[in-house]
Amino acid sequence: MKDQLVKAMALDGRVRFYIDRTTDLIQDAMDRFDLPNGSADALGRVLSIASIMGSMLKSEQEMLTINILGTGPLGSIVVDAYSNGNVRGFVANPELTPEEAHLPVHDLIGLPGTLIVTKDLHMEENWSGTVELQNGEIGQDFAYYFTLSEQTPTAVSVGVKIDENGVVQSAGALVLQMMPDATDAEISICENVLSGLKPMTELIEHYDDSSLDQLALDMFEDTKILANDPIAFKCTCSKEKTAGLLRTVSKGHLKEMIEEDHGADVTCNFCNTTYHFDEDELKEILEETEKNLTESEELESHVSEDQGDLAA
Ligand SMILES: [Zn+2]
Repeated sequence: MKDQLVKAMALDGRVRFYIDRTTDLIQDAMDRFDLPNGSADALGRVLSIASIMGSMLKSEQEMLTINILGTGPLGSIVVDAYSNGNVRGFVANPELTPEEAHLPVHDLIGLPGTLIVTKDLHMEENWSGTVELQNGEIGQDFAYYFTLSEQTPTAVSVGVKIDENGVVQSAGALVLQMMPDATDAEISICENVLSGLKPMTELIEHYDDSSLDQLALDMFEDTKILANDPIAFKCTCSKEKTAGLLRTVSKGHLKEMIEEDHGADVTCNFCNTTYHFDEDELKEILEETEKNLTESEELESHVSEDQGDLAA
């Protein structure tokens, strides 16, 4: 089945839970960056949870960024998530030595480390929460983040299974949250449900031929499905936006690109897409930059003239 994200609730709305299947989107990330299995596993776990966190956002304008900064070989993991559940992200140092290739995810990430979530809620200031990594296996680290930073008791299960040929077999995440009015009895029902669940990759494999709705319905007697939407690895970059970035480069540097390199290749960190700009395109950007500079110089001289008038 295709990648998807299910939102559901149960126990008369006192528990809400989210399940996603991310097998294809992690394969997509793996192919884009040519990731070794260990790096894809670590990034894939974060992408799986990030997609769910994105879907928790209230409006289309909102988005969030997850930064995992460890002390292991991967360096850092950066993932952006959007309200439609789409995600993009990368590992700072994905290449692994033969020895590192056999390390479990928590050693690749490396403790001590921090997990930072920054939410752009389309307000003047971003919201940000930081927690210490608990065990570096990602699932528990996020459970701790939700409980501490968002004050919502949360259980998280996540898993990525990749075979020796670099093919993602199954992947996904489950996030289950207790509402403030949940009773002790309901909390223990949830604990029972969770302890009876297989590991995430086995669950995703088991339900591979059916919609994840079925998994949600099998978890609680009174499960109510709220939504089931497709999700994907999707970047927001474009050649136009990249040209915008080039307009912020210094004139000297742009001239160098034109005269010495006769063009420029700009690669997006988040999706590894390379945009090529030939000499003519760069000259156009340089002209625009020069024009903008002249305009702002003129503006400045107007301002100072005005000030002069005021002073007089
Ligand atoms: Zn991109």
